[in-house]
Amino acid sequence: MPYLPESLPAPAIDETSAPFWERCNAKRLSFQQCADCLTLVHPPLPVCPKCQSVHRNWVDAPSRARVFSFVWAHTAAHDSVKAVLPYNVVLVEFPDLPGVRLLSNVIGTMRGELAIGDGLELVWDQQAENRWLPRFRRVGAPAAQSGPSAARQADSTSVIRAS
Ligand SMILES: [Zn+2]
Repeated sequence: MPYLPESLPAPAIDETSAPFWERCNAKRLSFQQCADCLTLVHPPLPVCPKCQSVHRNWVDAPSRARVFSFVWAHTAAHDSVKAVLPYNVVLVEFPDLPGVRLLSNVIGTMRGELAIGDGLELVWDQQAENRWLPRFRRVGAPAAQSGPSAARQADSTSVIRAS
């Protein structure tokens, strides 16, 4: 089961972002990099915001990632996610690739467990047929790839934490 329901609308993919999503569907997280000035660009853009070059390369994300910031959503941004509230939205940074951050989710974690600076590892979550999304798991967390509701269920046996 994906972290967020399959009915969540797919990303809007255009000519510029297609290489990013094609790599994701091959379970490869890569970021656009200007071939001229080496600026990392995410989300992908048709023109480098620093030097206006249209030449680009793709660099693979390093394996080491961590939480730069996060929020637990308690209001559904779309009808499809009403049943899984609260869910987290995490801004992920890569210490070995400064200059790029990725919006994603951290699976298998409960409200109160997530903290800025937590180490993360990339996991691939099948959102729909032929649609794989890069999501993350806290380093050292159990291997279960569970959705927000499963995390809440697991939490029901433990002491409720203040948040
Ligand atoms: Zn550039």
